[in-house]
Amino acid sequence: MAALTDFVRSNTTEPHRIRTRQILKSHPEIKKLIGQKNPNTFWVAAFCVVLMTGMAWLVRDQSWWIVVAAAWFIGAFPAHTLFVCIHEAAHNLIFKKPTANAWAAIFANLPTVFPTALTFKNFHIKHHAFQGVHELDADLPDWYEARLIKNYAIGKAIWLLFYPIFQGIRTLRMKELAVFDKWVIANFIVQITFDVLIVTLFGWKALAFMVLCLFFSVGLHPLGARWAQEHFLTLDPQQETYSYYGPLNGPNLNVGFHNEHHDFPSIPWNKLPEIKKSAPEYYESLKYHTSFVKLFFLFLFDQEISLYSRIVRKERGRVPVSDQSKPDMELVQSQVAPAEAAA
Ligand SMILES: [Zn+2]
Ligand SMILES: [Zn+2]
Repeated sequence: MAALTDFVRSNTTEPHRIRTRQILKSHPEIKKLIGQKNPNTFWVAAFCVVLMTGMAWLVRDQSWWIVVAAAWFIGAFPAHTLFVCIHEAAHNLIFKKPTANAWAAIFANLPTVFPTALTFKNFHIKHHAFQGVHELDADLPDWYEARLIKNYAIGKAIWLLFYPIFQGIRTLRMKELAVFDKWVIANFIVQITFDVLIVTLFGWKALAFMVLCLFFSVGLHPLGARWAQEHFLTLDPQQETYSYYGPLNGPNLNVGFHNEHHDFPSIPWNKLPEIKKSAPEYYESLKYHTSFVKLFFLFLFDQEISLYSRIVRKERGRVPVSDQSKPDMELVQSQVAPAEAAA
């Protein structure tokens, strides 16, 4: 197979809504997991916030190589865990009330310096509803990114190193989405206050440590292989979502269960393995990853994998832009409602 020069085009709608329906039909026991919350996620976030802030204090007067090494070898992990907590909050999977989830996201954002938690939520919900629709799915690389990086190993390494910057620029193409709301402003105010406190109390080096943790946690690091894992066509030219079943699902709060999560976005992280256990025929028949280190090198050095190795589509499947990405919850509610009406 030659290196791609364009994204792979699909005429179908995103594949998960259909799977949700099929899986619930053959495994109705999964319904009891839908709509559950996991408030313990908040305590995981609190632990990581304290850990990263404590580390920032410890390294505040150390030499730069210690700061960089501490960020790469240790700090990147809690930083990534915090992104997973922010992701849980984006789907309202920590607390019942959406406002409590929004505050949890703002709190989990603290040691990663830039106020991105609530803007992430607004974009991420559309990633679910419109997977592969270029103008609504901010997870897809921009045209210029794909043209610039192509399949070059050095290009892909630079792309991973500066991933948060590429990700930030991408959101500019989401013209249909209103992404500025009072929560984004609250996120901004709290975050700037925290950053000023860190600089005032600990100094600039402590803040730099936090910035490095952020960049490593999603970038040039085995943890950054998560982006290659989720939707890059790494193992099959047709399969557009991949799960990862490996040891990093511990610190990463099962975020590797990505097919399961797209099929059932209203089920919290601790219950995702139960979906796979209930419906193994749906998940074990798909290709999946087992090592982020292996995938990291595969993504970098396989000449057939480029930034074009993604499926794009025009077909939105009559889903409105306002969709909140709860297809599993909606299915369960639509099945309960007629029975209630009859009672
Ligand atoms: Zn995804
Ligand atoms: Zn999600």
